[in-house]
Amino acid sequence: MSWETVIGLEVHCQLNTKTKAFCGCSTAFGAEPNTQTCPVCLGMPGQLPVLNKVAVEKTILTGLAINAKINLESKFDRKNYFYPDLPKGYQISQFAVPIVEGGYIDIPTKDGGEKRLGVTRIHMEEDAGKSMHEGLDAVSHIDLNRSGIPLMEIVSEPDMRSADEAVAYLKQLHQIIRFLGVSDADMEKGQFRCDANISVRRPGEPFGTRTEMKNMNSFRHIKQAIEFEVLRQIEIIEDGGKVIQETRLWDSVKNESRSMRGKEEAHDYRYFPEPDLPPLRVTQEEVDQLKAGMPELPAQLRHRFEAEYGLSAYDADVLTQTRELADWYEALVAAHPADPKRCANWMANELLGRLKEANQELHDSKVTPARLAALLDRLADNTISGKAAKDVLDAMMDSDDSADAIIEAKGLKQVSDTGAIDALIAEVMAANPAQVESYRAGKEKLMGFFVGQVMKASRGTANPGLVNQRLKALLKG
Ligand code: ADP
Ligand code: MG
Ligand code: ZN
Repeated sequence: MSWETVIGLEVHCQLNTKTKAFCGCSTAFGAEPNTQTCPVCLGMPGQLPVLNKVAVEKTILTGLAINAKINLESKFDRKNYFYPDLPKGYQISQFAVPIVEGGYIDIPTKDGGEKRLGVTRIHMEEDAGKSMHEGLDAVSHIDLNRSGIPLMEIVSEPDMRSADEAVAYLKQLHQIIRFLGVSDADMEKGQFRCDANISVRRPGEPFGTRTEMKNMNSFRHIKQAIEFEVLRQIEIIEDGGKVIQETRLWDSVKNESRSMRGKEEAHDYRYFPEPDLPPLRVTQEEVDQLKAGMPELPAQLRHRFEAEYGLSAYDADVLTQTRELADWYEALVAAHPADPKRCANWMANELLGRLKEANQELHDSKVTPARLAALLDRLADNTISGKAAKDVLDAMMDSDDSADAIIEAKGLKQVSDTGAIDALIAEVMAANPAQVESYRAGKEKLMGFFVGQVMKASRGTANPGLVNQRLKALLKG
């Protein structure tokens, strides 16, 4: 009998506000340690927090984007624990009443459909500082610049049934957050981090005991970690053992997980209402206003690209991965409106492929929408062949010359002059009398051979459509 995997995800996402959640300190990344701190975020006694309004707005926007309910009144609580990078001895969080509840994210499925994955809640909290041990001998250093940076914690329902579904959910969420502009969500900088709760069961049975996997900072690691953990749990159960509830740490160097703490050592956070902050109240008007100003989201954009430009689901997905890609594509279509599908093909397959190979970013490329459009115009009016257009694009990657200048310089102009093509055909026929005879005797498959020979004789510049047409006429004899 087979096993079913059950996964629920907790994502911590740093909001990109200018200042911290409860004080005016800068949130800029990469400053000298402990230069962006004040008595509030250092946790000095008697200091009072003042809530950052922009952080509230960004959290509400995220809630609206996943179709959740916004609680017009929510509460802050103290989550008590001791850790060297948490000088206050508690973290301000939302426990009993979070600002966002419910909602969902749709992920694409293999059969071309969608699967809906539930979100339990999004609450606001503050980040802790950073302990640094690496390269230090028997001491640790603490940087409190991160202390007090606003976070959203996005908790999912245990709805995922595979590592792939978990990664698909995370990618969708990541994309939504980037489109909203509420976080830079740079995973390498720890701005979007994920804990995965994992269990296995026989289909139809109640949920099994879960473990929580921490410390994962890339989609690839998350997939590996989940797959590793699923196999580990199945092996334990099949050997007659029991999975114990514990927190595990993923080691992305050794590609294995190890126990961090068991249920017995689990924190008892002793949550209680934060006495220094009143309940958080927002009005329906404020929520409506945020909703009205919400940018187009990835799913909407994907559907619009399919409907408006006739793109395949695959191309629409590729071209809406980031706002930048989508804007670039729309600028290209505006400059070459005759054929949005041709625009998509050339951007997604040809341009993005070349950029990847050259390890270049779209915004650093010499190829702009206007320059690519000028090239596509020449393809559309049959000045050049598809093959030649690829050569022109190659050249454009590191040249400022226009498409026309490159076509001219490389002599790529397509020959669409019937007389010139007939002359080439005559040459080819004269050189291959046996094939001409076979063709005339009914071996029509030879057409491909003749087209190839004529194209070769023209060094790729003959218009293939015209070559076909003239060959048919002349081969008849
Ligand atoms: P905690 O407060 O200990 O983190 P929660 O009940 O809030 O626990 O759940 C945390 C996450 O674990 C949620 O994303 C939830 O969907 C997921 N989860 C709960 N039970 C299971 C289970 N049996 N298997 C997998 N994930 C689970
Ligand atoms: Mg948890
Ligand atoms: Zn501060």
